[in-house]
Amino acid sequence: MPYKTFEEYNDNITENVKNNYQEIISDLGEDTNREGLLKTPERAAKAMQFLTQGYEQDPVEILKGAMFKESYNEMVIVKDIELYSLCEHHILPFFGKVHIAYIPNGQIVGLSKLPRIVDVFARRLQVQERLTEQILDCINDTLKPQGVAVVIEASHMCMMMRGVQKQNSTTTTSGFRGQFEKIETRNEFLKLIGK
Ligand SMILES: [Zn+2]
Repeated sequence: MPYKTFEEYNDNITENVKNNYQEIISDLGEDTNREGLLKTPERAAKAMQFLTQGYEQDPVEILKGAMFKESYNEMVIVKDIELYSLCEHHILPFFGKVHIAYIPNGQIVGLSKLPRIVDVFARRLQVQERLTEQILDCINDTLKPQGVAVVIEASHMCMMMRGVQKQNSTTTTSGFRGQFEKIETRNEFLKLIGK
């Protein structure tokens, strides 16, 4: 087998969360002994552990693992990074795109690390505003660039499926540090990501 992927779950946590899901499903009026639902509590327990694995991961380590000395000092942009997270108020998904830019200050970071740190922070219970700040601060404090910018556009299932039931609204959050606090630099970035 040339490539094998595997997932690891903590057995105690899986067992506890599974039992809790069993109760929730039954409290909601379903028959947990129905054939289609027999393995649902366990599957849901594993899915939730997957979706919150970010608590166990260290984004600083990930960035530090791929930082290189480099004299390039123009803007680096990674746009349209897919985002899937869970809103901490309803434990329902929110999803969309993240755009990140930074201006190096003697060091660059491997480009694939930026989507990875998005995932580390997204795979936790979140609010979009804090997610934006955490990505921004992590890059700013670890890479120490001349500037960093983060824009997130996301749709929130808690708005779309319940509450105000607004299917087409998206929420945009943004944060800027260093050079991006200058209006010209910020506008250049926003233009390059098509905003
Ligand atoms: Zn919500």
